Amino acid sequence: MKTRMTALYHCPACGAAIPADRPIWRCACGSHLNLAPGRGLGRGEIAESDASLWRYRDALALGSRPRVSLGEGWTPLVERRWAGVSVHFKLESQMPTGSFKDRGTAVMLNHLLEVGVGRVHEDSSGNAGSSIATYAAAAGLPCRIYVPETAPRGKIVQIAAAGAEVRMIPGTRQAVTEAALAAVDESFYASHNWHPFFIEGTKTLAYELWEQLGFAVPDNILVPTGYGSNILGLDRGFDELEGRGEITRRPRLFAVQAANCAAFATAWAAGAADYVSFTPGATAADGIATVRPVRTAEVLRALRRSAGGVVAVPEAEIAPALRALGRLGLFVEPTAATAGAALSRLLRDGTIQADETTIVVLTGHGLKATDKIAELLGI
Ligand SMILES: [Zn+2]
Repeated sequence: MKTRMTALYHCPACGAAIPADRPIWRCACGSHLNLAPGRGLGRGEIAESDASLWRYRDALALGSRPRVSLGEGWTPLVERRWAGVSVHFKLESQMPTGSFKDRGTAVMLNHLLEVGVGRVHEDSSGNAGSSIATYAAAAGLPCRIYVPETAPRGKIVQIAAAGAEVRMIPGTRQAVTEAALAAVDESFYASHNWHPFFIEGTKTLAYELWEQLGFAVPDNILVPTGYGSNILGLDRGFDELEGRGEITRRPRLFAVQAANCAAFATAWAAGAADYVSFTPGATAADGIATVRPVRTAEVLRALRRSAGGVVAVPEAEIAPALRALGRLGLFVEPTAATAGAALSRLLRDGTIQADETTIVVLTGHGLKATDKIAELLGI
């Protein structure tokens, strides 16, 4: 790994530029921070012997080689037929903890180790919590996860099995976040929704798709979207590849949301550049039931820039999509199944054509939510 200058955080609210060599998760002004554009990497710099996301380590804003890895990344890209059309499914569900979060967590945790963080905590509806609990365990860091009382049991069990302390919080998802915020003096808030290094990790999804397609760019990428870390990661990754002259065009990015709780779809429909308030309802897609995304404006900008869009999936379409995916050999949680439902919609209305290269990102494994799946499918 090459030595490089310390990466910089940039604050979109007050314009501060802060070296990324200290344990912070937001700006002193209260805003989230973003990492300044990275150097990227050319195809000759891929560490080909490493069958994990660390094959792209030269593109990552870390100071040294990773100290903790569970083999995350380099997930399968599987071609299957959907509604008569050939589609590539990206199985992020096959990460060490069963969800895409490990991409962001592994890179964030290694950064936190570099800047001397000890104890960590986080709030999560489940997948990020199990991911951070698992990587904290691997790194030997004490960890506490705040979860909603209603979080899927499988995910809570996973957090506890990793040795993390589980704090169940009654009330709304926002109440869970507030409980985590109240603990910032006790330990480091390793928030996957706030910390810029989480997106530094998810950007490796762009590199992986590009390499797995034979150094080519797909036409469309569909991603279940709650806070938008995969959309931002893909945007950042393709930005870097374009900056290095490795690609000359960009894929259309489609954020998939549950219509019952769709912050980006609401803003998109209003033609807004930033957050528009809405009334959230219940959804089986618990992993993307986000009421107040941290980087709304950045996500909307990335979607517009890509000439993609937002798809809001009605609740009634989630179970049929989950069943159809299962029968293709793709057992996923309800949140991930929304991407299948969205693909059906985009094919039906002609937004996506049969001869295009389309990626459907399956973000979480079905084994995480068997209770909910049994209920949905009447098993
Ligand atoms: Zn600021």
